[in-house]
Amino acid sequence: MKGFSMKTYLLGLIGHGIGLSRTPKMHEIEGFHQGCPIVYRIIDTLLLKRSINEVLESAIDFGFQGLNITHPHKQEIIPLLDEIDPVAASINAVNTVVIKDGKTIGYNTDVTGYGRSLPGEISGEVVVQIGAGGAGNAVAYALVAAGVKRLMIADMDENRSRLLADNINSALGVDKVEGIGLTALEESIAASFGVVNATPMGMQAHPGTSFDTSWLTPRHWVSDVVYMPVETQLLREARALGCKTLDGTGMAVGQAVDAFRIFTGREADPARMREAFLQQGQERKD
Ligand code: NAD
Repeated sequence: MKGFSMKTYLLGLIGHGIGLSRTPKMHEIEGFHQGCPIVYRIIDTLLLKRSINEVLESAIDFGFQGLNITHPHKQEIIPLLDEIDPVAASINAVNTVVIKDGKTIGYNTDVTGYGRSLPGEISGEVVVQIGAGGAGNAVAYALVAAGVKRLMIADMDENRSRLLADNINSALGVDKVEGIGLTALEESIAASFGVVNATPMGMQAHPGTSFDTSWLTPRHWVSDVVYMPVETQLLREARALGCKTLDGTGMAVGQAVDAFRIFTGREADPARMREAFLQQGQERKD
């Protein structure tokens, strides 16, 4: 059949509590549209009660060609892999693994995916980030790689924000990232171009915002990594003020677009993948 790939892909997502992940359908639907058959499986290590080592070995034995890795395995998978891409190595987190001829190579498409969704205007600007956990790690790397002039990171755990700032400075060989206390947030936001929420605040289980949105002005650019819901209180209030915004689909879809290319060598259509992502939320009302 013309345009139809004879190669089929067996892919999977490994993590805890991932039954509602929208990543499998993004890949399967994109593969369908490209005439490139993809079967994408959920491999929940919590339900299976299996270690990451066992699951990775089984995936290799069963002929999986690619895996996405999520919480809590993004760090612990690293020593199990044969090769690590430099970006993933420098932030010590892998979310994508390619399996070829029994060899495994790890990548981080959270970084590149968030990076591809950033607007060009942030280059040369000051940005404040709240949240220095797993998502914050990828966000901070992507912001600095995108050329921000200065990045201030705050977290309710101040040690975490300082540690992340040190790690990103040394990973990228710069001195432009600083960990700050929550008490310095208002002043820092006032002096910034943009603000990124990389905390769970805004999710149904964590209602509210991670900072007082009355500190925003219409000239601020505001990004939220939370994607359940896509329309968070932060984004709603920022838009009402007239701020430009980037919602959590930027990273969630961007990571899948980059993983799709790594898995299949094909360029995914980001708009179609975003549609597949949003459609699942509408169907489930989350
Ligand atoms: P995490 O637990 O690793 O880190 C969250 C960090 O936020 C912690 O360091 C915590 O101390 C800090 N924090 C929490 N509430 C805070 C507050 N009010 N003020 C300051 N700091 C606060 O979690 P994570 O894996 O980084 O996930 C964070 C959010 O990002 C979640 O909502 C998750 O769903 C979302 N996420 C989105 C994507 C995406 O693709 N869009 C990817 C990964 C995670």
